[in-house]
Amino acid sequence: MGEGSASTRSTPTSRLATVTKGVPASLDLGGMCDPAMRPLDTIERKTLLYRSGLGFHCINHVLGCSHGCRYPCYALLMARHHGRVRHSVDWGRPRIVGNALALLERELTRKRVLPSDVHLCLTTDPFMVGHPEVETMSLAIIERLNRSGIRCSLLTKGQLPEELADRGRFPCDNTHGISLVSLDEGFRRSWEPGAAPYAERIEALRRLHDAGRRTRVHIEPYPTPGVVVQDLSAILAEVAFVDHIYFSGWNYNPRVPRDDAAEAFYRSQSHIVQAFCSQRGIECQIG
Ligand code: SF4
Repeated sequence: MGEGSASTRSTPTSRLATVTKGVPASLDLGGMCDPAMRPLDTIERKTLLYRSGLGFHCINHVLGCSHGCRYPCYALLMARHHGRVRHSVDWGRPRIVGNALALLERELTRKRVLPSDVHLCLTTDPFMVGHPEVETMSLAIIERLNRSGIRCSLLTKGQLPEELADRGRFPCDNTHGISLVSLDEGFRRSWEPGAAPYAERIEALRRLHDAGRRTRVHIEPYPTPGVVVQDLSAILAEVAFVDHIYFSGWNYNPRVPRDDAAEAFYRSQSHIVQAFCSQRGIECQIG
């Protein structure tokens, strides 16, 4: 599934009157999304499972990401900083870790204490649009982790596969998450051009919820009205079925200065999220 296969079904966005402002030239990472969607090159790594600086265990079995987020993408900034990729075009041509499953097997066998939870992914997307080999490997990793009793927390701007509902294959109480900061497809095309249309992300998440699986929405980085004029309540209404909502503002972008006005805006939006969650018994976390 690629950008060109965007759903023609009516989307929840059509009910919203929104105004999307253009992407500044300084942030235009054109060329990040590879429309040809060639088979991915592979790389080899020496290690896979690690504890991140944020305190939880992660697996990133792909270097790069074709979603081309222009917030900008913090993972891209870090990869450039550490010399793992040269530029955004390089980042937009992801390379899969060919020995990921062998590494995982070895690391799980050798660890004396296994982590209770592992997050996929911190620096790439486990269900990258248009790259079925990434999805296949992600599912195999989740299956292997679950076989050792390790829960997975998943986060994507793609579509969560229906297979994740299969409790025989994925017996742990995994958490299935999507990133969602708007319902406006104009905003998505400007800021997350290679990611899945919002309606498709929501639909895939809802399917897993309906199958009894735990679901989560990350509303981050939430744009200010200077970037897009939209109604947060409408976004919340579309995902009212989830178990957990995380909300946070937008950093690393000069168009969203964290001044008094932005702080006041984020305070007011946080209150909306908290009230929504509390009325519905949804777990709420404000970043
Ligand atoms: S989906 Fe995540 S990793 Fe991929 S480009 Fe967007 S922010 Fe970066």
